[in-house]
Amino acid sequence: MKAVLPGATIGILGSGQLGRMFAISARRLGYRVHTLSPDTDTPAGQISDCEITAGYHDLDAVRDFARRVDVVTFEFENVPAATAAEVERFAPVRPAGNVLHVAQHRVREKTFLRDAGFPVAPFRVVRNHAELQQAVAAIGCPAVLKTAGFGYDGHGQAMIRHPEDADSAYRKIGSCEAVLEGFIDFACEVSVVAARGADGSFAHYGVVENRHRHHILDSTIAPAPHAPEAVEIARAIMEKLEVAGVLAVEFFVRRDGGLIVNELAPRPHNSGHFTIDACVTSQFEQQLRAVCGLPLGSTEQVRPAAMVNLLGDLWNGSAPDWAAACALPGVKLHLYGKSEPRPGRKMGHITALGPDPQTALDRALQARDALTAR
Ligand code: AMP
Repeated sequence: MKAVLPGATIGILGSGQLGRMFAISARRLGYRVHTLSPDTDTPAGQISDCEITAGYHDLDAVRDFARRVDVVTFEFENVPAATAAEVERFAPVRPAGNVLHVAQHRVREKTFLRDAGFPVAPFRVVRNHAELQQAVAAIGCPAVLKTAGFGYDGHGQAMIRHPEDADSAYRKIGSCEAVLEGFIDFACEVSVVAARGADGSFAHYGVVENRHRHHILDSTIAPAPHAPEAVEIARAIMEKLEVAGVLAVEFFVRRDGGLIVNELAPRPHNSGHFTIDACVTSQFEQQLRAVCGLPLGSTEQVRPAAMVNLLGDLWNGSAPDWAAACALPGVKLHLYGKSEPRPGRKMGHITALGPDPQTALDRALQARDALTAR
């Protein structure tokens, strides 16, 4: 593959914070960036040379976008597969559309993982009430019902604690195609963010621990002492999918130490944001290198780190006290340029560095508390 070199134009499908941090990396290396999404004044568009506002199904606009860029990547996996296929007629898409196809649909994702021998929670596909009853009988309770497509941050999920809850849970998620999976009584959640070059080279950021609140990632601690074998599973998944780019694998660590793969994200991931401030090469620069066919960069983590997300809930009528957080040692503030702080919306994050992961986490949490202490 011929490398796409600085000066070339990268296209991004999607325009959220992942696209923004990717675009910042790309521009730092001298690339031009075009984004396409249905919105204007977006986190990624604000950083781009050209922000195209068009729906993903507007194939005329998609073609126009694809003709003017040298390579295309995406920053969230819910880009319609047909859009990726149309782009591929004009410019390479990395990771390729097949990776998107698997990762954007829970039935395909779980089936791929199970059939390839990776450890996943027991699951059944649910397309109607009859299948739901059969699935509940087979999996047992508690179980988690998840929509097959377009879920994120716990949206499109419902817990089924007793068989009689099943029908209301199914209505809650919209009675659409879904997966019922066994509830995993995990000790903790971890993830591995890794990159694979088009030449098969591999790099990873080790195992990090993730804590969630209301199904949304709340904090990441890096490095984490758990489950080093998670890296080998991530590597094997990327080989099997022939990924060119960054991919994150989220895991549950069972109480006996065994691993269950929960989800794949074929792009930089919230649990890899610490790499911007703590690693030689951030996950975003790594994605850029991988999609452009440049050598992967060093993933060495220079200092222990922790990341906490800043959700719209922090606003509560007035802007958080940014200066108070910035006053603390080892604290780095990242904001995504979003004007509307809705509850549950990811508005930014804080990374704190420290002599050890726990101190870093304490600092990050202290910084977040300082935002609303006034
Ligand atoms: P997901 O959208 O699948 O990543 O789920 C979001 C969060 O919900 C996970 O990070 C877990 O904290 C929780 N969760 C999802 N599936 C399960 C499960 N099968 N067992 C236990 N907790 C789960």
